[in-house]
Amino acid sequence: MASTEPGERLLRLHGRTASPLGEALVDISAIAHNVRFMLKRTNSEILAVVKANGFGHGAVEVAHAALESGATWLGVTSLEEALSLRDAGIRAPVLCWLHRADQDFDDAVAADVDLSVPSAAHLRAVAEAATRTGRVAHVHLKADTGLSRNGAPPEAWPGLVVLARALELDGLVRVRGVWSHLASADLPGAETTAEQVAAFEKAVSQARAAGLDPSLRHLANSAAILNEPATHFDLVRAGVGLYGVEPVRNRRFGLVPAMTLRARVAVVRSVPAGTGVSYHHAYTTRRESSLALVPLGYADGVPRSAGERAYVWIGGRRRPVAGRIAMDQFVVDVGDMDVNAGDEVVVFGPGDRGEPTVEEWADWAGTIPHEILTGVGTRVPRLHQHPARPLPCGQNKERSSA
Ligand SMILES: *Cc1c(COP(=O)(O)O)cnc(C)c1O
Repeated sequence: MASTEPGERLLRLHGRTASPLGEALVDISAIAHNVRFMLKRTNSEILAVVKANGFGHGAVEVAHAALESGATWLGVTSLEEALSLRDAGIRAPVLCWLHRADQDFDDAVAADVDLSVPSAAHLRAVAEAATRTGRVAHVHLKADTGLSRNGAPPEAWPGLVVLARALELDGLVRVRGVWSHLASADLPGAETTAEQVAAFEKAVSQARAAGLDPSLRHLANSAAILNEPATHFDLVRAGVGLYGVEPVRNRRFGLVPAMTLRARVAVVRSVPAGTGVSYHHAYTTRRESSLALVPLGYADGVPRSAGERAYVWIGGRRRPVAGRIAMDQFVVDVGDMDVNAGDEVVVFGPGDRGEPTVEEWADWAGTIPHEILTGVGTRVPRLHQHPARPLPCGQNKERSSA
């Protein structure tokens, strides 16, 4: 899988070539596997959540992989993200779900982007965009069923569905979906999940009573796809599971992590026992040792807060991060191992060789894998590895692209 040597590729930058210090390999076949794996556990359609640059993996590449593997919808947060999928030539249905009511929805309506609508003010703004563009706006009405975040609260819902029906009759909008988001699907047996399902069903019946006919009811995220079938309805929204992170605490379903963050050792130095390493000398060598410098830092998404606990994979072993992780670099104590400049260092990967996983880094940093994945910096090129496909001449060849 990770057969390409790190840093060998030359990047074209501003007309010059440069070799990147680190890179994020994205295994497209892992994403394809994860989509098919989740499809097997539901009778519903799958929406692939590719917000935040596909959780750091590259939104367009992930979107293509997910659609080819059976996902039928894409989901993003912002209008910019939705329109950039359209600009990349993706024609599949896209739902976009976080807006101010005073935003300009014309381009989204013209590009046939479905819009989530959490309030009457949003709905009126979307209807105005429909009037201006001369197109019917496709909307998904969002109910707050207990997350207390985005979505119409129960007291505003009856008014919202009545207004939506009136605008449907005016030919300005079409309510394709009614939806909501779960608070605790990653905690198995959480009471709030059952309560949210009940609140959601009530919201759907109120919409139907108002004359709406939403064909897409959706509530489930990755954890709920794998663990809460009662939440599936017509469509499920797969985010972190798409990228191979197990979404339910203490359960392993068999997802495959897609990202490997790696670099090459920049410099190796031998130092005596008692050498203070990196800022404030938070680490001191206990014996004579070799220190390997890794050219990735917190600006690249290696969390500074993980420094005291973290390990990396180098020379076929786990070795500890020595001292503070800096903005651009950190040091690894490789002891008496024979490590040389240019050797591969894996910060995290799928874990099948023994390298740390993104879940471990999240634990070391006191956060969740989502934050580590989306934090991989823009300085780190993404290298997408596509599954080998049979070529007409009968040979297999790996396709790689930036
Ligand atoms: C991010 C997001 C998801 C994906 O959730 P995961 O737990 O990562 O699967 C689904 N729905 C909404 C509304 C989101 O914002």
